[in-house]
Amino acid sequence: MNKTILHLDLDTFFVSVERKLDSRLEGRPILVGGISDRGVVAACSYETRGFGIHSGMPMKMARELCPEAEVIKGNAGTYSQFSDVVTEIIKEKVPLFEKSSIDEFYADLTGMDRFFGCYKYASELRHKIIKETGLPISFGLSVNKVVSKVATNEAKPNNQLKIDYGFEKPFLAPLSIKKIPMVGDKTYQILRNLGLRQIKTVQEMPMDVMQRVLGKNGTVIWKRANGIDHTPVIPFCERKSISTERTFDRDTIDVMKLKGILIAMTENLAYQLRRGEKLTACIAVKIRYSDFNTYTKQLRIPYTSADHILIPKILELFKALYYRRMLVRLIGIRFSHLVSGNYQINLFEDTEEALNLYRAMDHIRNRYGDKSVVRASAMGKNTIGRMHNPFNGQPPIVLAHRKQ
Ligand SMILES: [Mg+2]
Repeated sequence: MNKTILHLDLDTFFVSVERKLDSRLEGRPILVGGISDRGVVAACSYETRGFGIHSGMPMKMARELCPEAEVIKGNAGTYSQFSDVVTEIIKEKVPLFEKSSIDEFYADLTGMDRFFGCYKYASELRHKIIKETGLPISFGLSVNKVVSKVATNEAKPNNQLKIDYGFEKPFLAPLSIKKIPMVGDKTYQILRNLGLRQIKTVQEMPMDVMQRVLGKNGTVIWKRANGIDHTPVIPFCERKSISTERTFDRDTIDVMKLKGILIAMTENLAYQLRRGEKLTACIAVKIRYSDFNTYTKQLRIPYTSADHILIPKILELFKALYYRRMLVRLIGIRFSHLVSGNYQINLFEDTEEALNLYRAMDHIRNRYGDKSVVRASAMGKNTIGRMHNPFNGQPPIVLAHRKQ
């Protein structure tokens, strides 16, 4: 049976939220991101695109390119809240959906056609979101995730597009190869150097030529260019958390040691998040005392995967939780409410130095193991190391694709 896959994407999400909160920003060029000279552009309005501005660019450069732009320091907490409202609306209307980032969703509408008509159903869902949140959103509807995502991008801004079954290839053919999801700047350059410009040309090539040039990725890109994609919609609830815990051989009351272990655990899980391109919005600490009573405390936070944000919050939770001054048998932490983060690791505090530091640390961990770089306070604390990516078992391809 053919599938019917819907892709929904809020248009210039951070910018739209800022405009919703302050209507004077409507129609003006806007940059959202870190506002210091070393900050990075996290989002930019359509009005700035003509100046050559894109997300991931240093804020300083963006300001030089478009001096009249309004620069706004993003607020991850506010955006997380708006994202939750949209998620709730979708959850109510669609049984099987995936939240693939803070502002992007996939839904499997297969089998709904007989009853509702998928396109009509998707249109109504989109208009409900617009009406209830005031945020512009676009969708693409097709037989798979890749074609739907490309369709959404073609539909933007604030519109919708359906690609009928069997029309995937002709729809993709005239578009630039840059529009294939996973073709980043580097791959684009390689393909351009081969004289490839339109997806049509890739469609006409034999698959093994692409494979010879780009390896395994070449095969995937060739399939995508031909509208072939079988990746399933992964239900939002199924991958909502990652966690780690440790039971002590001998129960302990050494608070410094407990804190050190929590820091090491946080560093390790945050690294797992980054290599899986994930952000967390809910953290929890668990303690089991020697009498086997177990306590957990959790906290909602703005989406992040940055150690320096997570560690103080984990220690805060521990402080609130560990009041019995009794021997501890087990401690653990859990990150949940995970979404894919193709933005920066911590949306708006990021400086280029911070991003480069994380990039460099993660690069060393990817090569030499996840304990090759640790904070001094976490040194010598054993946590359970994992060398695989807990989200897909694939080696990390995270950092090259970080910017959207
Ligand atoms: Mg978006």
